[in-house]
Amino acid sequence: MTDKSFNPFEMAQTQFDSIADKLDLDEGTRELLRYNQREYHVSIPVRMDDGTVKVFRGFRVQHNDSRGPAKGGIRFHPMETINTVRALAMWMTWKCAVVDIPLGGAKGGVICDPHNLSAREQEGICRGWIRQLSRDLGPLNDVPAPDVMTTPQHMLWMLDEFETIRGSKLPGFITGKPVGMGGSMGRTEATGYGVIFNVREALKELKIPPADTTASIQGFGNVAQYAIELYNQIWGKVVCVSCWDQKDQISYSFKKLDGIDLVELKGITDRFGGIDKKKAEKSGYEILPGDAWIEQEVDILIPAALENQITGENVGRISDKVKIIAEGANGPTTPDADKEISSRKIFMIPDLLANAGGVTCSYFEQVQCNMNYFWEKDEVLGKLDTKITNAFNAVNGLAKSKKLYMRDAAYVIAVGRVVEACRERGWV
Ligand code: GLU
Repeated sequence: MTDKSFNPFEMAQTQFDSIADKLDLDEGTRELLRYNQREYHVSIPVRMDDGTVKVFRGFRVQHNDSRGPAKGGIRFHPMETINTVRALAMWMTWKCAVVDIPLGGAKGGVICDPHNLSAREQEGICRGWIRQLSRDLGPLNDVPAPDVMTTPQHMLWMLDEFETIRGSKLPGFITGKPVGMGGSMGRTEATGYGVIFNVREALKELKIPPADTTASIQGFGNVAQYAIELYNQIWGKVVCVSCWDQKDQISYSFKKLDGIDLVELKGITDRFGGIDKKKAEKSGYEILPGDAWIEQEVDILIPAALENQITGENVGRISDKVKIIAEGANGPTTPDADKEISSRKIFMIPDLLANAGGVTCSYFEQVQCNMNYFWEKDEVLGKLDTKITNAFNAVNGLAKSKKLYMRDAAYVIAVGRVVEACRERGWV
């Protein structure tokens, strides 16, 4: 989103093309899956607190719904672009397929910066986005969820607007709702925990005890925080995190070789994941440039912020000590960087597998809403662990048996399942 020359949709298509070659897909199937099935561009007028009307631009892209209703989050970001949303929609299709849940792929976005908007203005954007799109969304068509800078409260406003328009209670319309309002226990934790379920399995595969490992993480939002929580529980030590500083408009890394203290850092972090520099410094953190997270001498790197972060330019700064990269974010590694990582034999846990915990728990949330019966947290997290571990084993098993890079193995499974659904429906 930050680099104008970077087109994530082209990157997503390049990734798809290379798998299409591996699977020897025919031209028609390639044409269908290289592009999105539907996309919507909307204008959302919002009455601001100062009385003026501001028009926000928003998007919803549905990539493929052959395996079930399209599914994916909605992002609020000042630099959002349609090509980013297109890429993310395609990645959602593969993500749902790799964990084998009966959903397709979609993504949404609004160009806005919630840092500078009051709660009432944010509510206006949420309701306005639904008003523009309600005819094309729905529990059986396309089911939104939280993503970058959107929260359970945003989901509830969207649900309320949707139910008002439709005149019925439809809690399965959106996921990531607050617990008690149709949300699932464990949904907030799910993406970050899913990253660590994968890391735990990768460490087993590499025969390294988690307690002997350290990690460096890019980001300190929802995904990063819960990844740190579970990684600490399995005795791993995080020595560096980086985050965006809203005031300075750049990011910083926060380093502590004894291990960062999650509770302490959370206590000095705003709701968008920005850590207070002065307070961190007082608590003994070394403050480094935002990209320092990538060059730490750790065993595990977890990019858990945005796309386009590990690139041809900085991939060489990854330490020889790094054994695992787990992509908490969507699309953090560009294809040229990916080639280098693959040739260095770093164990890559690709985004579609690493961060699939969120959408998997969203699926559980829909199931619970449909039954109107809600599971205890342990039950949700237990089911999540099983689903993610099974997906990891399937991908890792294929990677080993066919000598594939982990990302390629994940794509072969995911694209293969989507192609099969399209064929069985008679689309291709
Ligand atoms: N936004 C999350 C993702 O990128 C979750 C999507 C969902 O729950 O639908 O996977």
